[in-house]
Amino acid sequence: MSIAPNATQPPAYELEPYRSLDSGELTARIQAVRREWGKRLVILGHHYQQDEVIALADFRGDSYKLSELAAASEDCQAIAFCGVHFMAETADVLANRPERLAKRDGRRVSVILPDLAAGCPMADMAEIGQVEDCWRQLSAVIDTEDVTPVTYINSAADLKAFCGLHGGIVCTSSNAAAVLRWALARRSRVLFFPDQHLGRNTALRMGIATAEMPLWDPNRGPLGGNTEQEIRDGRVMLWQGCCSVHQEFLPGHVQRFRAEYPGIRVIVHPECMRAVVDAADEIGSTGKIIQAVESAPPGTRWAIGTEIHLVERLKHEHPEQEIHFLSPTFCMCTTMYRIDLPHLCWSLENLAAGTPVNVIRVDDEIARWALVSLERMLEVK
Ligand code: SF4
Repeated sequence: MSIAPNATQPPAYELEPYRSLDSGELTARIQAVRREWGKRLVILGHHYQQDEVIALADFRGDSYKLSELAAASEDCQAIAFCGVHFMAETADVLANRPERLAKRDGRRVSVILPDLAAGCPMADMAEIGQVEDCWRQLSAVIDTEDVTPVTYINSAADLKAFCGLHGGIVCTSSNAAAVLRWALARRSRVLFFPDQHLGRNTALRMGIATAEMPLWDPNRGPLGGNTEQEIRDGRVMLWQGCCSVHQEFLPGHVQRFRAEYPGIRVIVHPECMRAVVDAADEIGSTGKIIQAVESAPPGTRWAIGTEIHLVERLKHEHPEQEIHFLSPTFCMCTTMYRIDLPHLCWSLENLAAGTPVNVIRVDDEIARWALVSLERMLEVK
């Protein structure tokens, strides 16, 4: 990834003064930039964002849906991505893919991440150097021509490019099973990163045994802490990565709700650990969780295991249902929470002043190969 700041011009506005403004003024100033830019500006809000940011978004959704929506807009010149770093990278790759650039006579869409510190701890658990080292070590034991690398969309662009280069593919939490089927139909094995839980939960439901899923920990020495035999037996090799938010949900939370609320339906995100997923009634991406709640009859009781901002919003938007947050602790995505009104206002006013800040620009070669793995995913039904 490379960031393309306005190298010659300092920003017109510094961030610090924005921190002391109240939300009413910040909202009014953000709305003023939106009015001035009209359809040329698209603000995207991930489901896990705080409410005051979501209220200003043109679209809300999960990371892939948002990137696709932004890329589809003919008029868009700038995207403010209220999410985390890998999402802005994906938006840059999709919005500036060659056919889109050709339609716009080469003009790029600028993708802005209002706070560059909004990263994803899970994505950071698999770095390109570690994955390349893993691949090299695997090739000494098995034929890597027979391994499809699969990266969860929650990963850096250079990992998506790695997959593109090695015949691999990207998946989301909603299409992981279809992608794994695609991958295993072409080659005997998969290397799945960075989220071990999504990989394991998906593969188990496809009938793959735990013994066929060695866990590669880049910090556990040779072969990621596995024996050569464990690697040879591996069909879906998992990476030692996880979401710091979803790993907070525990099987005991499910049991507590079942004991206290007879008839409650428990739905959890596949980034939760296996024991939680096994104890739940349903497993689903954010999109599926929302759809399940929207389509349930009034009076349905839910315990939901995903990021708290989404669950609180569902509670608010569906008063006809009884919705509980699965954990007694406050599981929120703290990096997503870094995107707040001061950062959004500051970045938009700099954009309007012609001194854009925090522009996410993926290196051309990385973008080319990352797009290959993203497009493969689109072909999988
Ligand atoms: S909720 Fe988890 S996977 Fe999603 S951005 Fe936050 S840390 Fe990353």
